[in-house]
Amino acid sequence: MQINFSGLRALVTGAGKGFGRDTVKALHDSGAQVVAVSRTNEDLVSLSKECPGIEPVCVDLGDWEATERALGNIGPIDLLVNNAGVLLEQPFLEVSKEAFDRTINVNLRSVIQVSQMVAKGMIARGVPGSIVNVSSMVSRAAVINLTSYSSTKGAMDMLTKIMALELGPHKIRVNTVNPTLVLTHMGRKFATNVEFANALKERIPLKKFAEVEDVVYGILFLLSDKSAMVNGSGILVDGGYLAC
Ligand code: NDP
Repeated sequence: MQINFSGLRALVTGAGKGFGRDTVKALHDSGAQVVAVSRTNEDLVSLSKECPGIEPVCVDLGDWEATERALGNIGPIDLLVNNAGVLLEQPFLEVSKEAFDRTINVNLRSVIQVSQMVAKGMIARGVPGSIVNVSSMVSRAAVINLTSYSSTKGAMDMLTKIMALELGPHKIRVNTVNPTLVLTHMGRKFATNVEFANALKERIPLKKFAEVEDVVYGILFLLSDKSAMVNGSGILVDGGYLAC
């Protein structure tokens, strides 16, 4: 399946590492002009060397005012990937205000803020668009110590449906990808409990974790016209975990 994004401008959040970084590379290779948004500048510097011509934006998306300053005049965007996220593990009885607020602000509130900016621009220009929110299989399956994280991903799935409902009439599609564990920077930290990680893998019918490219292919499909009738939906990239 050939996907060509020539002539389109894409914005990817959490572009410095993991899924976001490889999504930027794939979009760049497919002809898109890419705005790469992330928090650590050195990640953006190295990414810009790998993908000449991308537009790096360094901002903490958990900070509403800073995000407004950084992205308020970002210009026309056709494709948006809301991928930035944090995972702060705490047992339910120890969930702190700080960790919960931080998780909500980065994983959920920024999705609303950035999507508003981008969607308003699409509507003003009268062009169609596609937005992909990077959720997780833990939006639908409970995993211990993930109160804050899973709550944001569950809310993100519903947010996606509401966005699809309200933005659909403007020809803007909104969908999620919901991966299982992938050993990115975030995934490796989560998998340090080897016993837990092995038990998780054992529950996946394919008996393996996903790879970054499995997730990126899902994102590219949902961004592209190949998924023209897919809206308010999601692709599980979980090896069958939720089928059981
Ligand atoms: P990584 O930690 O590898 O990469 C996340 C990227 O997002 C980093 O570049 C990070 O920058 C950036 N980021 C985090 N917080 C902010 C912020 N406040 N402002 C701007 N950028 C930020 O994570 P993954 O690639 O694994 O995860 C990407 C998405 O996929 C997340 O939403 C995650 O919840 C989701 N996901 C991940 C799974 C996994 O197993 N890896 C499984 C299911 C879903 P910096 O490092 O500088 O903070």
